[in-house]
Amino acid sequence: MTHSSSDARKRFLRGPGTFRNTEMRDSYEVVIIGGGVSGCCLAYDLARMGCSDVLVLEKDYLTAGATGRCGGGIRQQWSTEENVRLAMGSVARFEQLEEELQFPIELKQGGYLILSYTEEEDRRSRKNVALQNSLGLDSRYITPQDALEIFPLLNIDGVVSATFNQSDGTANPFWITQAYALNARELGADIVTGVEVKDIHLEDGRVTGVDTTRGHIKANWVVNAAGARSTEMAAKVGVTLPNKPYRHEILATEVIKPCMDPMVICFSTGIYFSQTARGEIVGGIGDPLEQSSFNTRGSLRFMERMSREVARLVPTFTDLGVVRQWAGLYDVTPDARPVLGNVPGIENFPQMNGYSGHGFMIGPMCSQVTAELIIHGKTKTMDISALNVDRFEDMSQVKEMSVVG
Ligand SMILES: Cc1cc2nc3c(=O)[nH]c(=O)nc-3n(C[C@H](O)[C@H](O)[C@H](O)COP(=O)(O)OP(=O)(O)OC[C@H]3O[C@@H](n4cnc5c(N)ncnc54)[C@H](O)[C@@H]3O)c2cc1C
Repeated sequence: MTHSSSDARKRFLRGPGTFRNTEMRDSYEVVIIGGGVSGCCLAYDLARMGCSDVLVLEKDYLTAGATGRCGGGIRQQWSTEENVRLAMGSVARFEQLEEELQFPIELKQGGYLILSYTEEEDRRSRKNVALQNSLGLDSRYITPQDALEIFPLLNIDGVVSATFNQSDGTANPFWITQAYALNARELGADIVTGVEVKDIHLEDGRVTGVDTTRGHIKANWVVNAAGARSTEMAAKVGVTLPNKPYRHEILATEVIKPCMDPMVICFSTGIYFSQTARGEIVGGIGDPLEQSSFNTRGSLRFMERMSREVARLVPTFTDLGVVRQWAGLYDVTPDARPVLGNVPGIENFPQMNGYSGHGFMIGPMCSQVTAELIIHGKTKTMDISALNVDRFEDMSQVKEMSVVG
């Protein structure tokens, strides 16, 4: 742990929200649109891999998008091979980030406990665990009694089975984004907030730069990491992304004594919640009635549904006070898998979007492969061709089933 190093402590005390702007030039090798976890992580990865001629442009402040509204959950238990690989590679990175970035990231690996209530969910769980194990993950298919041992406050009425993976957990999205940004900047990248990209220039099948609220900037590569606004950015050069924004609500309770190690999650109800290192219970619940929109207002309906479901699952939480509720946008694709890599017909416009509610946890690997694509012209760590946007031309995509939303 690096909490005790004086360097880390200085950064810790500076905290999120104190990021000062750098000047920007009028030409860069890489311009990244979006100062969320994706954009800042990519700036850092490019710089540590030798390309620091990078500019991140953020229209508001770092973490203003989904990153700053995120539950911080990190799960490797997925139903598709690419997501398991992306998440496993990301966890390996998260485990070394505190040391590498010299910044506390509040990584807690209390595991994810996934509850199944129906025969169909149970069947899928067995299949998922078999896939995950074949890829080297130590996830386990367990009984309701085993689940109770992992989380003794859990009401297991109606639970058919569960799955558990100890190395899953949570981390702090604000601190990680800040840590990436500070380190990227120390390596020579420029990160500028309060500047919006208004247009993207395209000449002969290559992007050549962006128009911003502070003038034109030339670039050899432009990366679309604009979160729920990515579809809008892609449309500037005639690229159609199928991603749609959906509100997702979340809340935090008062602080209580440590009583919950794992993140508890259930796909049929769409609920997830865990206890942070500080002691709050933080979680959300998907809403099947939610329509696509840019609405990020909190609702009473969410508060009622979430409170009822938490109280059912953990009766001792019934009287917990809710301190705050908020909402953010999921950037959702038709198969609930991210859009990565170049787009057809344009060689230098990689996508890092369409995360469908899990972009924080797979962020490090998505960034790694995007940095490889930019520096080497191809990915090395992992083949991401199945995640290119052209997959949507074919209607037989593999859908990620293990999602809340
Ligand atoms: C309530 C909620 C809970 C979540 N929980 C989890 C979780 O537990 N685990 C997990 O893995 N994921 C979770 N997610 C999803 C996760 O937050 C996102 O997938 C991830 O943060 C995406 O990061 P990003 O950097 O790609 O996008 P964002 O964080 O959205 O960043 C995009 C940035 O681009 C900026 N931008 C947009 N347009 C422009 C422009 N024209 N010019 C300049 N800047 C622009 C925006 O202001 C924004 O800051 C959750 C999301 C929500 C809403």
